Amino acid sequence: MRAFDVVFAVGFAIYIAMRAYWQERLRGEAVVAHRRSLREAALLVLVAIGCVLLPVLYLVSPWLDFAACASPAPLPWLGTAILIAALWLFWRSHADLGRQWSVTLEIRDRHQLITRGVYARVRHPMYAAIWLFSLAQGLLLANWLAGWSAFAAFGALYFLRVGNEERMLEAQFGDAWRAYCARSGRLVPKRR
Ligand code: SAH
Repeated sequence: MRAFDVVFAVGFAIYIAMRAYWQERLRGEAVVAHRRSLREAALLVLVAIGCVLLPVLYLVSPWLDFAACASPAPLPWLGTAILIAALWLFWRSHADLGRQWSVTLEIRDRHQLITRGVYARVRHPMYAAIWLFSLAQGLLLANWLAGWSAFAAFGALYFLRVGNEERMLEAQFGDAWRAYCARSGRLVPKRR
């Protein structure tokens, strides 16, 4: 394995462990409304392929060698810095969103609108973290397919889901959601 493959593998293991921890912690929390659909399920399968299956295949098998490519010197270092930032933001967004989190679009029993911590000025910090992680994957791995598959798959999920998620939260929280939108940006803070 290349040194930067090891960097990615360690970051990836931390990322998966964080997800597993929150999934386990929230097991059994009641859901009162949802926007699950066939499209949403298909997008989650696409994300599982692009963000998990292909990078794992790249790390453990020679099957994706046909897509090998060079990653010029400064890029994997930049990828390492972005990976660390992504892991920090991923953890902070999980910690701030707490029991409101779900892998798909759901409203839990006693769901609260979170507008503090990393949610104060950005409405989708967890998606921002996944964008950053996907970018780091592309910069770290010397394989165009396993490198950029997460970026493409998560991009599809993000653009097809985010409007639906915001409509669900607006239906649930009304004016409080609209006031929050007025002072926050989707992925980066709104300019004052
Ligand atoms: N889009 C957010 C959260 C992703 S998890 C982010 O990127 O940080 C998806 C779940 O989070 C959805 O089921 C939705 O109910 C919940 N959610 C999203 N934003 C929220 C908020 N500000 N307060 C409470 N719940 C929120």
